[in-house]
Amino acid sequence: MSTSNPVSRQRIEVDLNFVNEVTRRGGGDVKKCMQCSECSVVCPLSPSESPFPRKEMLWTQWGLKDKLMADPDIWMCHNCEDCSKECPRNAKPGSVLGALRSMVIETYSWPRAISRAFSKKAFLALFALVPVVLMIVFFLATGIRVPNGGPIYFSSLVPYNYLDTAGIIVGAYAILALLYGCFRYYRTLSKQKKGKMNAVIAAILTLKDVILHTWFSVCGSNRNRYYAHILIFYGFCVLLLATFTGALEIHVFGFSHALLGEPQNIIGNIGTVLILPGLLIAIINRTTSKVPKEDTYFDWFFLILLLLIVCTGFVMELLRLDGISLAYWTYMIHLILVFMLVAYFPYSKFAHLAYRFFALTYLTSIGRRPAV
Ligand code: SF4
Ligand code: SF4
Repeated sequence: MSTSNPVSRQRIEVDLNFVNEVTRRGGGDVKKCMQCSECSVVCPLSPSESPFPRKEMLWTQWGLKDKLMADPDIWMCHNCEDCSKECPRNAKPGSVLGALRSMVIETYSWPRAISRAFSKKAFLALFALVPVVLMIVFFLATGIRVPNGGPIYFSSLVPYNYLDTAGIIVGAYAILALLYGCFRYYRTLSKQKKGKMNAVIAAILTLKDVILHTWFSVCGSNRNRYYAHILIFYGFCVLLLATFTGALEIHVFGFSHALLGEPQNIIGNIGTVLILPGLLIAIINRTTSKVPKEDTYFDWFFLILLLLIVCTGFVMELLRLDGISLAYWTYMIHLILVFMLVAYFPYSKFAHLAYRFFALTYLTSIGRRPAV
């Protein structure tokens, strides 16, 4: 009489180029891992059952791309680098998880060709050229020229109706592309295990965690990263609020120009005061880290672009107040940078906010939480 075999067989697809791709994105030392598990022991966020990042190191070495691209655990990591500091082989598991997260964004983003090109530094100049060309076309088509003399009003360079139309088109594209990518990712995650909790309730609980930075605060050894992140996060939210306040002032309350001391201006300055120190702490933190980072173009693009937007926004206001016409040129550079922020949102590090939210929502729904 034969006994049934309880071992189930699973076909595993191995992507041999995968390790090279992880290396290119800053996870360069994954091959050094010897599976000692020290990283999973020291990680303050790793659950006791099926802990990370040891298993992700193994899967990466084996080239199990599909498995890793559907692994929500990589989003539980908040990149404190405790594991990388303690790794006896200097395999930098924290950086490997960071590289995997950037690959998730590329894999699920839409359209894939754009996200693939955007992940390569070589194409950055081309992506920067797009808003420059659009701006040149705009000035050629409208015949508007940089005003010479008189009080400085940015709306005389780019009238609000044009600015609003462009903002709505680019913003709608970015939101739809981002949501579509996140939806595809969440659908992939949900196929693995059915959630015990309603997804809406899980999303509300996750939102609370995001607002309070609950999981981030668990990474105790790298407090500077926590402070930098919270300042950048809330500074960005306040700057977003300033943008909407400006639109309300013009379209609802009939302001003809942005004036000094009006709500948008005050809110914008508060946002700058929050985000600027956050960006500077993050940059200092990265450049002085005890765990040297490798090619982290994905992270640097995020930090430098935000810093340039904040600085050009601040400088153009100062120039405007002094009546210096250089303000118009600074404004044009500012608009180009803002275009890059919004249009490329679904493909850049900015998208991690949305992907992390969906992954944590899924994890919450299945009852998988960090060991806090
Ligand atoms: S990454 Fe380092 S600490 Fe983690 S299992 Fe590999 S060798 Fe050990
Ligand atoms: S970087 Fe920090 S949170 Fe991420 S796996 Fe390592 S120890 Fe855990």
